[in-house]
Formats: sequence, structure tokens, C-alpha cells
Amino acid sequence: MRIIEHNYIDGRFVEPHGRELFDLHNPATGAVIGRVRLGDADDVDAAVAAAKRALPGMARTSKAERLQMLDALHSAMRAHVEELREAVLTEYGAPVSRSSWMADYAADTFVAAARTLADYPLQRKIGTARVVMTPVGVVGLITPWNSNAGFICNKLAYAIAAGCTAVIKPSEMSAMQTDVVLRALHEAGLPAGVYNVVNGSGADVGAAITAHPDVAKISFTGSTAVGKAIVQASAASLKRVTLELGGKSPTIILDDADLDAVIPGVIEAGFMNSGQACIAGTRVLVSEHRRADFEALLKAAIETRVKVGDPRDPATTVGPMVSQTQWERVQRYIRLGQQEGAHLLTGGEGRPDGLSGYFVRPTVFTDVSNDMKVAREEIFGPVLAILGYRDEDEAVAIANDTSYGLAAYVFGDPAHAERIAARIDSGRVVINGAAHEPLAPFGGMKQSGLGRENGPFGLEAYLEPKTLLGARAA
Ligand code: NAD
Repeated sequence: MRIIEHNYIDGRFVEPHGRELFDLHNPATGAVIGRVRLGDADDVDAAVAAAKRALPGMARTSKAERLQMLDALHSAMRAHVEELREAVLTEYGAPVSRSSWMADYAADTFVAAARTLADYPLQRKIGTARVVMTPVGVVGLITPWNSNAGFICNKLAYAIAAGCTAVIKPSEMSAMQTDVVLRALHEAGLPAGVYNVVNGSGADVGAAITAHPDVAKISFTGSTAVGKAIVQASAASLKRVTLELGGKSPTIILDDADLDAVIPGVIEAGFMNSGQACIAGTRVLVSEHRRADFEALLKAAIETRVKVGDPRDPATTVGPMVSQTQWERVQRYIRLGQQEGAHLLTGGEGRPDGLSGYFVRPTVFTDVSNDMKVAREEIFGPVLAILGYRDEDEAVAIANDTSYGLAAYVFGDPAHAERIAARIDSGRVVINGAAHEPLAPFGGMKQSGLGRENGPFGLEAYLEPKTLLGARAA
């Protein structure tokens, strides 16, 4: 049993004011494996004060000094990457290859931010003016459980690249990952107060950061509902806000796609992170005349190749849901889909045989219409909805008929897929399973978010342009 009883404020591990303990579970067994002590608004005040004290020094750092800091943070994280992988496996239950990917991503995001900063002009001339990109100030970084370490590191890396100081509120459900990250980052020896971490609930610590008058910006990743609450709460001090929210992403299979060949990509897009991914491709659009063939292939592939089980088993492709609450939510949606008139192609309620943790059966609904809740709401589990389309205009209309706009997937002839991609209202479109590009902007249209992370667009979200008129040339 691991008890985590510290925040990180002003360069030191300190006891929180808050007394409440929050249970941490192993989702593969349901067992309680640790507890984290939750901070409160007093802890937030102390963390913001430390960040504010550190800000003038940080804002004055040169590009070269920030690059050195990012390099030190990267080396420190790399030294702990195995430990982080173990924490992700234990506490989150991501299958072993995914846990490794997540740990590497968290470490390497400091390299991505450094590459971005190296090429980014922090000063430029526009007409007679000199424009200087200045750090926005103290930033509040709030992360969800589904890739807690990755989001902490990603947000922090770009905040530091910009010369900001930070108060981080990680997901309370992922305190073990946070602990590994913190101990690693501490070894990088950054000046005290540059980043601070307060463990706690969203309602207490998250809300206190969002309302704090000395916090200039919030970068939040999480649900659309909380994103909206953050916009409202931060309005009083007109904070800058970046929001990375939910999705209900379409996967469009064009008529010139080879059905056999696309099946692995459809499964990967839909079941990535055991379905607990904001960018999961959960609405699968296929033309009516090929739907029966596609469904037969998908059903066979899921039933024979998707393996749900112990995340430590290298053969496992889908791990447990993160919590009992999340497990129940997915079960509710599986019942709801049937009540709405959709049919189960595979899967259904309950646990797969022989498993006792928060495991769900990979589930596919067919005969789904886009007005059903299983087609409109984010389920956050391995549950797909297949929708038929009559022609491409209808496919595009269904894809865009959603309040979300985070990601989309198109499979088919490359030139054809590009033409369709241009018509999809979404922050990113992945054509034929192409790989992630760390420096490309990441974020959502419509209610999937506000602003972008990563690369130059992500860096600018932590910067304010300041125009100098009458200044000497840079
Ligand atoms: P959540 O919105 O419940 O919580 C996210 C974080 O916000 C947690 O740290 C939580 O404690 C905190 N929080 C809760 N209420 C708050 C409040 N009132 N003020 C400030 N902070 C508050 O989300 P979750 O369940 O942890 O994560 C799953 C959600 O995150 C899904 O909707 C998913 O789509 C989304 N997500 C989006 C992206 C993206 O990049 N777009 C990535 C991952 C996850």
C-alpha cells in the first residue's frame, strides 16, 4: 500500500493542508493499492505564491537557458521512464506496449517543446515595430486520468519553453504517475517555484486554481462539461484558456478502401487506450452496400484478435476501465444502445469470462442512427457504433453532425481520402492510419476545445505578443 502525502511547492516536497485521503485502485483487480492526500485552496495559494515569486526570473531567461532546462527535464524523465511505465501499468491498466508508449511520450515531450522553441522567433519585426513574445505569466495546468503523466509533461514543457511558471493539478486518480514524474523532474534542479504541484479534487484544488486572480492562464485537458465550468469560473479575471476536451470521432471507410486491410486501423482507432481516448474513432461510417461485409470482417477480427485481459500480458490489446465508476458508465451505455434500438454485433454487458477487475467486453453496435445517444455521447470505453451511409455527401454530413470536432479517420484511396478530409470539421484528420506528428497542432473544433497544443501553435498559447514602437531593431 503506497501512501502519497506530499505536494511539491517552491522546489520542496511539502505536506498538504488538506487531510482527506483518496483511494487509488489497481483497475485490473479492483484492489486498493494506495492513497493520496488531497490538498485544498490553502495549498493552491501557497503554490501560486511560489510560482509568482519565480516568474520574473523565469521570464528573463534566454532561449538558450530554457533549452537547457528542457534538456535537463528530458534527461531526468528518461532516467525514470521504466518506473513511470510501471506506475501507468499498475494504476491505469494500459496494456504493456501502450504503457511504454505513454511513459516515452511523457519524457520525449520535452524534446518536442525544445525543438519547437529552437525554431521559434521570440522577437520579430513587423513594419516599424518590434514584437516581443512574452510569457503569459503563472499558468494553471489541469490534467485528466487517461494520460496524466503525458499531459503534465506536455503542458509543463511548453509553459517552460515560453518562460512561464506553473501550478499543476494532476488527476487525483493518477497520483502514482504524478509521484514518479515529480521525483524525476525534481532531479532536473530547476529554480524553486518554476513548477508546483497540488494534488486534490477538481471541486477544491482545480476550482481554486481556476478562480485564482494571480493565475493568468489555464490549460485544461478533460471533459467538455468541466471545460465549460472552467471558462465560466475564469471569466472573472479574464484568464487565457486552452481547452482539450472530449470527442466522438468518425471513422469513414470510403468505397475504394480495401475492407480487409482497414480492419486493424479501425480497431486501433476505436479501441486505443482501451477506448479511453479523447480521439478514439467511435463512430464507424461505411456505405450501406458494403456494411454487411464490413460487419462480418470486423466481428471476426474483434472476436479472434482483440484480447482483453491482464495488462501485463504482452498479448493483451484492451485493458480494464480505469475505475468502477467508469466501468458502470460503459455498462450503462451498452444497455442504453439496446434500449435505443441499436443491435449488438459483438460484445455486450458484463465482464469477459474469468476477469474480475474493471474489464468490459469490446462492443460494437450496428443499425445505429446518428441521433442515438450511443452515436452522440462520449462513452470512453471500447464501444463502437456502425452507421451506414448512402453516398459520400451523407457520410460527410453524418461525420460533421456532432457537437464535437476533435479527430476523424478516413480510409480509402489517398487522393480521395484527402478530398473527404478537407470537408470534415475536426482539429485533425488521420488518413489511412498515418502516424502522430508531435509538433503539429493538436486540439478540437466546436465543443472539443479551444486553442491548440504542441509545436509553434501550442507554444504561442503560453505567450503574449508585446509591440514595441520606436525601439531599436532587435
Ligand atoms: P474531468 O473533466 O472529469 O477531469 C479532468 C481534470 O479536471 C481532473 O484533474 C479533475 O480533478 C479536474 N476538475 C474536475 N472538476 C473541476 C473544476 N470544476 N475545476 C477545475 N478542475 C476540475 O475528465 P476526466 O474524467 O479526468 O478525463 C476524461 C475526459 O478527458 C474525457 O472527456 C476525454 O475526452 C477528455 N480528454 C480530452 C483530451 C484532449 O486532448 N482533447 C485528452 C484526454 C482526455
